[in-house]
Amino acid sequence: MRRRRFVQAGLAIPAALVLPRRGLALTPECKSKAAATPRQTEGPFYSPNTPRRDSLVEHGTKAERIVVTGLVLAPDCRPLAGAMLDFWHTDEKGAYDNSGFRYRGHVFTDAQGRYRVETIVPSLYPGRTRHIHVKVGMAGRPPLTTQLYFPGDTGNARDGLYRPELLLKPEGAAKRFDFVVSV
Ligand code: FE
Repeated sequence: MRRRRFVQAGLAIPAALVLPRRGLALTPECKSKAAATPRQTEGPFYSPNTPRRDSLVEHGTKAERIVVTGLVLAPDCRPLAGAMLDFWHTDEKGAYDNSGFRYRGHVFTDAQGRYRVETIVPSLYPGRTRHIHVKVGMAGRPPLTTQLYFPGDTGNARDGLYRPELLLKPEGAAKRFDFVVSV
């Protein structure tokens, strides 16, 4: 089922944006011990019970698309299968959907600890640099809540929450971030 949905999503977007799951390098940057991903504030706009979906892209949007992908790892660098990643971010106007689930949704890591979500580049809102919120962790445990940032964004240096350890990194046509969570 997940495979089929992935293929269908791939057909609906320009080929340049499609990153096959097997295209993701599986080798974690760490070998035996990794620093935990820094926690960040959830902020006021989290909504629970999001839909499970590989694409958050809204029909008809003209915003720039991105694919965010990577691994979820234990502190000993072991990839974690079945970890949940729950994303939320602003729309093309810099607004959160606080009554529905636009630009909100969750995915799970596969057997190799990989995740992949397609969405849009979030727009800015006053006081913050560009960011994507995420909660990540294993079922039945408190998730790690953090935020991801965009390399080269001019607002980064002016945002007191920004941390370079939370920057997305180029991964082919996609952006990559590997999470390290306690288990
Ligand atoms: Fe935010």
